[in-house]
Amino acid sequence: MIVEQIWTGNSYRNFNYLIACEETGEALAVDPLDHGKCLAAAKDRGWEITQIVNTHEHGDHTGGNAAMIAATSAQLLAHENAKDRIPGIDRGLAAGDVIKVGKTVELEALDTPGHTMSHVCLLSHSDYPALFCGDTLFNAGAGNCHNGGHPNELYETFAAQLDQLGEATSIYPGHDYITNNLEFTLDREPDNQQAKRLLDDVRDQDPGQALVTTLGLEREINTFFRLQSPSVIARLREAFPDLPDEPDAKTVFLRLRELRNSW
Ligand SMILES: [Zn+2]
Ligand SMILES: [Zn+2]
Repeated sequence: MIVEQIWTGNSYRNFNYLIACEETGEALAVDPLDHGKCLAAAKDRGWEITQIVNTHEHGDHTGGNAAMIAATSAQLLAHENAKDRIPGIDRGLAAGDVIKVGKTVELEALDTPGHTMSHVCLLSHSDYPALFCGDTLFNAGAGNCHNGGHPNELYETFAAQLDQLGEATSIYPGHDYITNNLEFTLDREPDNQQAKRLLDDVRDQDPGQALVTTLGLEREINTFFRLQSPSVIARLREAFPDLPDEPDAKTVFLRLRELRNSW
């Protein structure tokens, strides 16, 4: 499996992806908003785009579908419940569905509500464990729930699905928000040395050559995975004096999500 991360350079800071089979050259495009850059990258590598997956229904993820399909006749895949919101879906996805690309790539659809209620992530079952997580999980952060989502479901998705994945899983999010998110981590947990070091490393990075994190690293630098951290809880109590002595993980997650909304 070969992954190409495509930096759109737009104001929403979207990342698009091509996932290709190295044997056949077939490729799947994830949220190809910048269809021009995606098509150029595929041409460059000699790949044929045969499928598109939209992680969810927001326009900055679906806006390239029509042009991409016109250029490639690719099949469009998205959450089965997104059919009313994404025109032209050829295959509706449910939890556990497998998407094959060529001979070597198998991606499992995870049903990951929270950012919206019809959001899928893709988990590779190839030699290279990787998660394409749209707007559910970002580097050092979590998706918002302002446009059709719910924080309770986002917590359940993190706890029951994302946090169960292996340390080595590479994380490929839908946007480049790492700098802001690390600053939020450090606002919540000022003694997080790993987050401090990483922020120094990525502050001036070229998003066209962005650091790809792993779930193991996210557990160290992403506040939304650090729900048991004594310093996260202590600092949270400054904002929410009613926080119980030993708050459960869900309470901490929801309060962090609430703070992040206005941060
Ligand atoms: Zn979104
Ligand atoms: Zn987005």
